[in-house]
Amino acid sequence: MKKINFSAGPAILPASVITQAAAAVEDLDGSGLSILEISHRSKAFDAVLVEAEALVRELLNVGDEYGVLFLSGGASTQFFFTAMNLLNPDETAGYLDTGSWSAKAIKEAKLFGHVNVVASSKESNYNHIPKGYTVPGDLKYLHLTSNNTIFGTQFQSFPETDAPLVADMSSDIFSRRIPLERFGIIYAGAQKNLGPAGATLVIVRKDLLGTVERQLPSMLDYRVHIKGSSTFNTPPVYPIYVMMLTLRWIKEQGGLTAMEAHNERKAKLLYDEIDRNPKFTGTVSDDESRSLMNVTFVCTDDADTGRFLAAAEAAGCDGIKGHRSVGGFRASIYNSMPYEGVETLVNVMKEFN
Ligand code: PMP
Repeated sequence: MKKINFSAGPAILPASVITQAAAAVEDLDGSGLSILEISHRSKAFDAVLVEAEALVRELLNVGDEYGVLFLSGGASTQFFFTAMNLLNPDETAGYLDTGSWSAKAIKEAKLFGHVNVVASSKESNYNHIPKGYTVPGDLKYLHLTSNNTIFGTQFQSFPETDAPLVADMSSDIFSRRIPLERFGIIYAGAQKNLGPAGATLVIVRKDLLGTVERQLPSMLDYRVHIKGSSTFNTPPVYPIYVMMLTLRWIKEQGGLTAMEAHNERKAKLLYDEIDRNPKFTGTVSDDESRSLMNVTFVCTDDADTGRFLAAAEAAGCDGIKGHRSVGGFRASIYNSMPYEGVETLVNVMKEFN
């Protein structure tokens, strides 16, 4: 039986992307070569990079004042890369602490300058996005994690500040429209909404670069990668190729407006069932903080947990076990999750007694 992949990441990809990606492993567009064996400086791969960048720019409305980079190292490398490139030792960056990934970004940034944790929901095990805080005026940038993959929370709007936002969008990039002009840097590991693990998308406003005093190793300098068009060294060729296919798929679906509507509809179906069914309880404390990508819930009676997991798995729902720090269940319903996949899970919930 084909499983429905609710995993948090690496995660589900569109079926058509997997078919094309598999074909390209045998033969890339009739070239007689596999995508796995072509040079990163070949014409064929150059075309992939050019198209992937153009699609990122088109879908998110990214102008020339930004560089678009396909790097390696995952979002975890960007935790320090961003601070290393933007923050001087005597400057302060603001951070919103909304989950374990934010906390890791904070830890790394402290290696390079002052960090002001402007708001945190740590005391309540990150079960909501903080509200009602004031962002100080003198920040070099304000960092946030737009979607908290583990805790099932998401910023539905972005904080008011004059400072450029630096955002880890690993688990909700391309899932909705965003006010791009407010962001100084956006970074995302590919393995949730974009492709297989191994590539990291970075969108960076060029005028923010070159403002730190420290010497930067070449591989850790955004300017070097911008100048080298992501081929300063050998980039992750295959993950970038699959990313390009996924971006094409997003465009074919109708772009971010269509993705947003699709994701809202799926999340509503699942949250409505969690709210209606006394057997289940959501783990996020206020509806406004709920993620449209990672839906977290528990069995109201913990004794039901094992039985519900077995029932979901018997229906083909794979990867719904919650992260160990939250427990219960987490259904990751990224862009590529079809509505019917969520319906299957909701039907298991309806029939569970
Ligand atoms: N940020 C977020 C929001 C994530 O969900 C993850 C991975 N689950 C990471 C960062 C870490 O990403 P990577 O493994 O690509 O370093």
